[in-house]
Amino acid sequence: MRYIISVILLLSYFQINGQSSFYFFGEEVKPGTKKHFEIPISNDNNSTTIPITVFCGIQDGKTLGITAGIHGYEYPPIIAGQKLIKSINPKSLKGVVILVQIANIASFQKRSPFVNPIDNKNLNRMFPGKKNGTISERIANFITKEVISKSDYFLDIHGGDASEDLMSYSAYYSNSSFPNTSLEGKKMAESLLFENIVVFDTNGKSYMKKSLPSLYCSAEAFKRGIPSVDIECGGLGKAENKSINQIESGVLNLINHLDMTIDTSNPKFNPYYNYINERAYHKSSYNGIFYANKKAGDFVSKGMKVGNITDYFGNIQETINAKSDGIILIITGTPPVNKNETILVLGKSSSINPKK
Ligand SMILES: [Zn+2]
Repeated sequence: MRYIISVILLLSYFQINGQSSFYFFGEEVKPGTKKHFEIPISNDNNSTTIPITVFCGIQDGKTLGITAGIHGYEYPPIIAGQKLIKSINPKSLKGVVILVQIANIASFQKRSPFVNPIDNKNLNRMFPGKKNGTISERIANFITKEVISKSDYFLDIHGGDASEDLMSYSAYYSNSSFPNTSLEGKKMAESLLFENIVVFDTNGKSYMKKSLPSLYCSAEAFKRGIPSVDIECGGLGKAENKSINQIESGVLNLINHLDMTIDTSNPKFNPYYNYINERAYHKSSYNGIFYANKKAGDFVSKGMKVGNITDYFGNIQETINAKSDGIILIITGTPPVNKNETILVLGKSSSINPKK
C-alpha cells in the first residue's frame, strides 16, 4: 500500500512539474534533451533544407521560437545560434526552445545578400508564406506553421547585411490593440540587453490587417498575439566575436527573463535604455559610388552632411544631408550605391542618453 501511494505521489509530481516530450516534425524530443533536424523543403525545380535544433526542457514551461539566418549573409546571428547549441542546456530548461539555425541556407552557402539565390526573393517579405509557392515562400510557410504557431514568445535575429554598417539594437512590436502583448515584447527587448531599442509601432500598418500578408517573420508572430522581438547586431559580412557574444548572452538572459530556466539567478537589465520610436529613411537618387562621412552609431543633427554620391569619374552627384536629428542605425558601408536604394536609416529618439 505504501508503495502504491509513493508511486501515485511520484506520478503526480511529474504531472505537475515534469515536461512531457515535445514532438517536432513527427519525432519525439525527450525531456532534458535536444535534437537536430534538417527539414527538407522542395518544389518541382529546387530543394533546400532548414537546420533546426529543438531543446526540450526538464520542467514544464513556455515555448520560445527563435529564427537566425533569414538573411544568410548576416553572420553573427548564425554563429551565435551555433554557440547556443551548447549554451542552452535542456537539463536546466523549463519548456521548449525551437531554434532555426539558418532559415535561408542557400543565401548563406552562396554568399548571397538580401535574397535567396534560388528564387531571388527576400525571405523577410514572404510571410506567412505559401505551401505550394517558390522555395522562399515554402520556407516561410514551414516556419509559420511549425515554429511561430507553436511559440508563446518569438525572436527573429538579424544583423546588417553585406553592405550595411549597422548599430546594434533590439526591437519590439507595439500596437494599441494589443497592449499586453506589446508590453511583454518591450520587457523581452529590454532583457536582450542592447542599449538601444527600436519600437516597431504597427498602428495603421497595412501588414497588420487580417486580409494582407504579414511580410516580416516576427510580424507574423505578433499578428497572432505572440510577444515578438528582433535583434539587429553586427554587419558588413563580418562575424565578429563581440557581436556573436552579445547575441548569445542576450538570448540566454531572455530565456531567464521568460522564466524558462531552473537557474534561480535574476535576469539582468540595463540601467537605462534609449527608445527609438521613429525612423527616417534616405534613398539614393543615383547609381554611383558612395563616400560616407559618418558611421553607424554616430549622432547627427538635421542638415549635417552624411556623405556624397559621385559618378564613376569622381563628380559629386548628390550630397546626403540628415533629414533630422538622430542616431545612425544603418548606413551603406561599401562603395556601390543604386538609385532608389536606402543608404541611411536614422533613428529618432526623445530619450537619447544626455551623458553621451
Ligand atoms: Zn536581415
